[in-house]
Amino acid sequence: MPYIANSSKAEEFISPQEILDTLQYAGENKNNLPLIETILEKADKCKGLNHREAAVLLECDDKAVIEQIYGLAKKIKYKLYGRRIVMFAPLYLSNYCVNGCVYCPYHAKNKNIARRKLTQDEIRKEVIALQDMGHKRLALEAGEHPLHSPIDYILESIDTIYSIKHKNGAIRRVNVNIAATTVDNYKKLNDAGIGTYILFQETYHKESYETLHPYGPKSNYTYHTEAIDRAMEAGIDDTGIGVLFGLNNYRYDFVGLLMHAEHLEARFGVGPHTISVPRICPADSIDTNDFDNSISDDVFGKIVAIIRISAPYAGMIISTRESEESRRKVLELGVSQLSGGSRTSVGGYSEGAKDTSQSAQFDISDTRTLDEIVHWLLRLGHIPSFCTACYREGRTGDRFMALVKSGKIADCCGPNALMTLKEYLEDYGTEATIKAGLRLIDEELTSIPSEKIRLITKRNLNSISEGKRDFRF
Ligand code: SF4
Ligand code: SF4
Repeated sequence: MPYIANSSKAEEFISPQEILDTLQYAGENKNNLPLIETILEKADKCKGLNHREAAVLLECDDKAVIEQIYGLAKKIKYKLYGRRIVMFAPLYLSNYCVNGCVYCPYHAKNKNIARRKLTQDEIRKEVIALQDMGHKRLALEAGEHPLHSPIDYILESIDTIYSIKHKNGAIRRVNVNIAATTVDNYKKLNDAGIGTYILFQETYHKESYETLHPYGPKSNYTYHTEAIDRAMEAGIDDTGIGVLFGLNNYRYDFVGLLMHAEHLEARFGVGPHTISVPRICPADSIDTNDFDNSISDDVFGKIVAIIRISAPYAGMIISTRESEESRRKVLELGVSQLSGGSRTSVGGYSEGAKDTSQSAQFDISDTRTLDEIVHWLLRLGHIPSFCTACYREGRTGDRFMALVKSGKIADCCGPNALMTLKEYLEDYGTEATIKAGLRLIDEELTSIPSEKIRLITKRNLNSISEGKRDFRF
């Protein structure tokens, strides 16, 4: 099949031959320093890289070049988004699943875990627990099951989540990570006011994909790979993609991931809103030793940094699958969103004291509380942000991309980060976090370039101290 970036067919926009040709080209140009220099010059202009250029960088093992890539990734992240790191938490609604993903304990044949689906009352309890931690942005997760989690259940749950106002808490953005579905169902999700629709490809290698997904609707590689297109056809213009590194050869999936991003831009004029970089990790009945494609921390860091410079407009997400040390490292390489205080089991937030590990989707490496993570980010010089402004101000899809590409979004991200951090400190912060947070807010306020925005931010920060909430640019 020919490679056609703007085709609607998976086999053409993720052409296996193009991936193989790219890997060969990258191998032939391994450590080709003049070529690499040209590629880095292009990346430095924040214009992004195509999958062939990115693959050449991934192949390179010249230490000085790798350091240069790391420096560039950090610079681009700061230039486009500033020091803010957006916080979120996953919320698991149901672990009933008809699929057979061999790397996930929710697969239909696993008899070891308790199956559970939250009622709307239980969702309320979960959301109150999340609000009491300080979260404003959630990623909904649910197994695929026509009876237990049909689209109507997901839509009702989204309504419930948005309706809950507990103390000063509110969930202001619900991102959704559910199975590939139809254009009609994506329209319903769009009408329900979701933020981003996220679907991980897991692997772009068709044969491996089919082995890893032996049965269930998800076993259809083409239907799954074309799902983000259907979501965009339905009007969802903020979408998120990702692969599960460790399932397949990482070079192959890295190229596939970037080709997917290029495809969305070529076909819809809007690249992915986010790119996630999960790595396979242990869980019930899942032994990572069964997967021989696992990647080292060094390779992982390189992947993160090269994605940042290749798709500078995309938010990059890292979850609590990664350890504190690994997260610290990739925060310096372009990651812009972080989960915190996560539970990966159904009912895990409101029932924290009970043993819910039996139904966790994966083991968490970073088990710190949200407040501990907020404090840690402050100590590292990042600004933890609970901002949800763009989607609520209609800055989605191509409008959002235009702002990022012109370098203007940081003008919103910075003040919004300070105001939402102040809300967090007022309502949920512990003493040490409040002290560190207020100090950082004072310092950062002076570096807002526009005098007008600085004055409005200052006024809003004072209003937050007086009990008012939800300011945004
Ligand atoms: Fe089901 Fe998703 Fe787990 Fe696959 S990864 S078994 S679809 S919950
Ligand atoms: Fe994200 Fe927009 Fe807020 Fe920046 S201003 S943190 S891009 S929602």
